[in-house]
Amino acid sequence: AKRAGQAYRRWDPALDEQSTGHARLGAEMRIALDTGQFQVVYQPIVAYPEGRVAAVEALVRWEHPQRGTVSPAQFVPVAEQNGLIIELGAWILRTACRRMARWRAELGGSAPDKVSVNVSARQLAGPGFATTVADILAETGLPPHHLAVEVTETSVFEGGQAVTTLHELRKIGVQIALDDFGTGHSSLGLLQTVPVDILKVDKSFVDNVTEAGRHSVIAEALIQISTELGMTAVAEGVETAEQADALHQLGYTLLQGYHFSRPLAEPDFGRRPTTTGGMTTAAVVGQAHPG
Ligand code: C2E
Ligand code: MG
Ligand code: MG
Ligand code: MG
Repeated sequence: AKRAGQAYRRWDPALDEQSTGHARLGAEMRIALDTGQFQVVYQPIVAYPEGRVAAVEALVRWEHPQRGTVSPAQFVPVAEQNGLIIELGAWILRTACRRMARWRAELGGSAPDKVSVNVSARQLAGPGFATTVADILAETGLPPHHLAVEVTETSVFEGGQAVTTLHELRKIGVQIALDDFGTGHSSLGLLQTVPVDILKVDKSFVDNVTEAGRHSVIAEALIQISTELGMTAVAEGVETAEQADALHQLGYTLLQGYHFSRPLAEPDFGRRPTTTGGMTTAAVVGQAHPG
């Protein structure tokens, strides 16, 4: 309301409704955090074609008593805005690390090597994030190399302490994954300034990977870049066996998507089906977890 003209901005009922909607969601989120309505689910990242679950991505869920399941795409931005993401994010991180430490203890070598946790811009921008992570690792007893944090290009560019924090995390031994890679404004430029261990190639490049054309060319270029730079590539959003095989042809060895598993509260660490035509390993899955 400081600049002339802005004070007289017309009342927009749609905007108003959106902001009261956000305010209500924000208030309910506070209650949700205090009454245990949030949950963390885990989506396997599969070593292909062997089928071993190499890692899991932690994804938050909100089971709202009236609204039902609310998507993180809806409430994470609101939590970013009202600052609750700091507390919620720490809770997600603690839950995922505790869970991973338990899997390591219970399953030993058949546990996944890594849990990957999404971190948002506001968590990364503040000064205390690396300390929070170090504290949570100490508290849960999870060795740092079993944790990766997933950041997006936008969250890194939002500035503050973000780049410093990433260097600090890496010094602790935590890995950095660049999420939704290729969809931002200067993804390649970012690789020159930010320490990245894992490149998560966005679903949009996976969708048409079986067809000759732009998307498969980009998917191929991205695996080459990641290999040359000593990073690990993960292909996101793999929905069909044909896509998995096409990605394998290009040199991808880590795949994630509904073709292998949806995010689950209790993922199965047995082997996943591998090829289109041949024998699947469903029997092995059954043997891996009797009962
Ligand atoms: P993301 O980190 O890129 O996560 C991948 C999203 O794609 C997840 O949606 C996942 O369920 C979905 N997905 C996985 N495989 C497939 C597939 O084969 N096909 C399709 N169509 N979708 C697939 P989700 O869980 O709804 O999360 C959406 C976004 O919300 C995430 O995108 C991430 O940006 C954010 N998010 C989720 N959990 C958290 C969290 O714990 N913290 C923060 N800060 N953000 C989170
Ligand atoms: Mg992610
Ligand atoms: Mg992603
Ligand atoms: Mg994505």
